[in-house]
Amino acid sequence: MNTSLLQFQKRLLSWFSIHQRNLPWRQTNDPYCIWVSEVMLQQTRVNTVIDYYHRFLDKFPSIEHLADSDLDDLLKIWEGLGYYARARNLKRAAEIVVFEMEGCIPNNYRQFRQLPGVGDYIAAAVQSIAFGKPLAAVDGNVKRVLARLYCRSEPTNIAKFNKTFQDLADRLLVTSQPGTYNQALMELGAMVCRPKSPTCLVCPVQNFCDAHQKLEVGLFPVRQAKKKRPEHQLVSGIFINGKNEVLVVQRPLKGLLGGLWEFPNQHVNPSADLVQDCKELAVDLFNIQEVSLSLTYLTQIKHAYTHFQVVVDAFFCYLSTDLSLEALDFKNWTNAQWKTIEELDQLALTGITNKLIPILKKSPHLIS
Ligand code: SF4
Repeated sequence: MNTSLLQFQKRLLSWFSIHQRNLPWRQTNDPYCIWVSEVMLQQTRVNTVIDYYHRFLDKFPSIEHLADSDLDDLLKIWEGLGYYARARNLKRAAEIVVFEMEGCIPNNYRQFRQLPGVGDYIAAAVQSIAFGKPLAAVDGNVKRVLARLYCRSEPTNIAKFNKTFQDLADRLLVTSQPGTYNQALMELGAMVCRPKSPTCLVCPVQNFCDAHQKLEVGLFPVRQAKKKRPEHQLVSGIFINGKNEVLVVQRPLKGLLGGLWEFPNQHVNPSADLVQDCKELAVDLFNIQEVSLSLTYLTQIKHAYTHFQVVVDAFFCYLSTDLSLEALDFKNWTNAQWKTIEELDQLALTGITNKLIPILKKSPHLIS
């Protein structure tokens, strides 16, 4: 950067005061609301978050409501937003604040940073925006802007270079208005210095931008290529009892999609005999040597997660006898229920399950 820091800060803040989007979490000083918004905004687009933010605060208007909430209700509100550990951690953190800190969200970076789910970014964002602490918050948008401003070739998606970008952000921080400054730099990244086709001609800080001056904007940020996501194959059973109800099971609270409900499933080899695998799933699940059921193939679903993708072959499984849920083998799940297809809407479901339900509803095999 070749001109003064003060001018850069002034241009950025002035642009933000005129061009910032009218977002609901910018209309409040409540640390709880700001914290909720920052957790939701991690890994998720602003337009997607807005509706979730309103629904979440309607259901849990205060940190006390969140601490007292039922995890199933929380996961239902969060359903579709992904990265469910964020919701579980937010609830655990709320419980600590309410039951161990007298309901006061810490206005101290180190104390706040120790709460479940609070990393460097969330801590700096909440502390600066809600409490005015002079901390620079560095997310993906900020890293991209910094890489271009300073022509930095360290890959922005590699954690070991986080400190490089944090140091650059610290240098630019407006310590008298840290919350506004952090939001301004993130807004610049989201609205002007976009990943593709940044609009440098209308950028308020173009005179300070090395990449723009050198006509090298297209070279930054540098990102290390990701490995191809591995693919896993699963077989899933839609078990139907004599009352036309389907069996759903709840995943363990810890781990991937923790606490969400799904149809029973298990991993299989790509070359497997799927009918035989589905029968074995039933035998394992109901914890009996032989189960009498007839199978009808339903469909194949593909679903992508951050680090892998899955291909699921689903079968209707008609049980000739009503088996008790007490007999279920819960080594892979924590809970099970028979539900009508309409009642499934009340549960927080995995993405795969949500893809299967519309197909189930149209199927002539299930009488609703
Ligand atoms: Fe980004 Fe272009 Fe502005 Fe530089 S001039 S900060 S590349 S939008």
